[in-house]
Amino acid sequence: MRQINLVDITKLVKEAVIKINYNLDQSLVSLIQKAKTNETRDLSKSILSDILENQEIAKEGNIPLCQDTGVVVVLLEVGNNVTYEGDIYEAINEGVRQGYLEGYLRKSMVTHPFNRVNTLDNTPAIIHTKIIQGDKIKMKIAAKGGGSENMSKVTMLTPTEGIEGVKQLVLDTIFNAGGKPCPPLIVGIGIGGNLEKSAQLAKEAIFRDLDDCSDDKTIKKLEEDLYNEINALGVGPMGVGGNTTCLAVKINYYPMHIASLPVAINIQCHSARHTEVEL
Ligand code: SF4
Repeated sequence: MRQINLVDITKLVKEAVIKINYNLDQSLVSLIQKAKTNETRDLSKSILSDILENQEIAKEGNIPLCQDTGVVVVLLEVGNNVTYEGDIYEAINEGVRQGYLEGYLRKSMVTHPFNRVNTLDNTPAIIHTKIIQGDKIKMKIAAKGGGSENMSKVTMLTPTEGIEGVKQLVLDTIFNAGGKPCPPLIVGIGIGGNLEKSAQLAKEAIFRDLDDCSDDKTIKKLEEDLYNEINALGVGPMGVGGNTTCLAVKINYYPMHIASLPVAINIQCHSARHTEVEL
């Protein structure tokens, strides 16, 4: 068994939340640059230029990309040959606490649905845990903005609605969201499992590499079709119209009950802040 010191987990989380809030991933920057050349309208081009300039200013000035510095979501994978003393969830939350304090990041978590009292340190993080083989701890860490999360959706379709039903649901969701989730978007879709599993699949999908495509032929085609059809909606950058409503569509799937076709759509704004670390 490999012994892990939870202080190292705290340090990794702290550094990660600061880094992702100040720096947009270069693969995402490249896609936005490419999208700018595909826009024909001045306003759409100008908004993409502003997004590109904003990320330069954030990187150079060590300041957040957006005023909404997000809820921290952690996809935690713990190797079955790892051992540690203490509470790994508390170690992660301590990293969030230190990172949001030292990085001067807005604290966005409230304790209760109705009293709306701020927890003042952006904890608790939302942590999904998996046991994996091996002697490593891996974490995918995101700072997920509220505007795009609010436009996300879970729906239980019937199996007879099939691919066309899924497409219509996604297109309606993105069109109705308009500029609210700050397009251009990364659209994460989870199909299958049950209610909560589909939502988790959709969340995991937004962490995928931007140049990654599904290894299932049917799902890969659906990713490509939806990418084209979402962009044909004309919502455009920040909803002002244009050719770029999404930068990528990622679909994860899972087996499901014979009577069900659960579909979750997790919308990620252009400020797609996430990273991966391992110990
Ligand atoms: S949706 Fe994204 S870009 Fe828009 S305000 Fe929220 S975090 Fe910022």
